[in-house]
Amino acid sequence: MELLFLGTGAGVPAKERNVSSIALQLLEERGATWLFDCGEATQHQILHTSIRPRRIENIFITHLHGDHIFGLPGLLGSRSFQGGDTPLTIYGPKGIQAFIEISLSISCTRLKYDLQVVEIEEGTIFEDERFLVIAKQLDHGIPSYGFRVVEKDLPGTLLVDKLKALGIRPGPIYQQIKLGKTVQLDDGTVIDGRDFVGPPQKGRIVAILGDTRYCEASVELAKEADVLVHEATFAAEDSALAHDYFHSTAVQAAEVAKLAGVKRLILTHISSRYQGTLSEELLEQARELFPNTELASDFSSFIIPRKK
Ligand SMILES: [Zn+2]
Ligand SMILES: [Zn+2]
Repeated sequence: MELLFLGTGAGVPAKERNVSSIALQLLEERGATWLFDCGEATQHQILHTSIRPRRIENIFITHLHGDHIFGLPGLLGSRSFQGGDTPLTIYGPKGIQAFIEISLSISCTRLKYDLQVVEIEEGTIFEDERFLVIAKQLDHGIPSYGFRVVEKDLPGTLLVDKLKALGIRPGPIYQQIKLGKTVQLDDGTVIDGRDFVGPPQKGRIVAILGDTRYCEASVELAKEADVLVHEATFAAEDSALAHDYFHSTAVQAAEVAKLAGVKRLILTHISSRYQGTLSEELLEQARELFPNTELASDFSSFIIPRKK
C-alpha cells in the first residue's frame, strides 16, 4: 500500500505543483490503483510514474471544482485507447455523471470498457471482502467529501509447525482448522481450530480529504488512521483567507491530525503563493503541533506499512 502524489497544488497548475490527484497503489493487495481526484493533466503526470491507466480500478472524486475533475475526460479516453478493457468505477458528488457523459459524448469519445459512475451520499460507498470506503461531507462551499479507506483485518496465519508437532499432516483438514472450526482427527481426538491460528493482521486506514475548512467531519473520518492526507492551502498567518475561501491552514490540518489521533499527516493542495522555502514554512507550522507531518510534492510517495 503506497500513496503516490500526482498533483499537490491548489486551484491552478504551477510549474512546481500540478493540480490535485493522488494515487493509492494497492498492487499487492488487489493488483490495482485507486485515484483520488483527477485534476487537469493527471494523465501527463502518470506518464512519469509506473502507474498503468488500465490498472486504475476506482476513481474517487472529492468535489466538482475544476482543479479536481478537469483531467477526467482525457484520462478516461486514453485508458480506452491504450487497451484498457477492465471495468472502471467513478465515485463522486451529484453532477459528476453529467460532467462525464457530456464531455465524452460531445467529444465522441467511445470507451471500450465498462464505465460506472456512482453519485455518492454520506455513508459506506464501497465495500468488498478486503476494503471499505466511507464518505462524509466536509465544509467547502460546494459539496466536498472526505474518504476513509479501511482495509479489513486479515485472518491469522495457520500455525503449521504446531500442527505438524501433533502429527497432523497437511490436507483438506488444514482448511477447516484455518477457518477456526472444531475438527475431529482420524484417531478421534477433537481439536479447536482457533488454537492453531495466529492473531489476525490489522488492516490499515487511510483518510483522504477533499478541500475543506476545519470541521468535525474531518476528525471523524481520520479517527486513528495510519495516514491522514489533508489540504493545507494556506499558512497560519493567512487564516482569514483560508476561512473566506473555504480552505484550511497547515495548522488546522495538524489540529485535525492531533484530535483524530492519526499516526502520520501528509499536507497537500498547497497554494502557489508558497513556493520553495515558503512551503517549508507550512510544514514547520504544522510540525509544531503535530510532529509526524510531511509535505507532499508532485511524485512524492509514501509507503504505508502493515501494523505490527
Ligand atoms: Zn482544490
Ligand atoms: Zn475546491
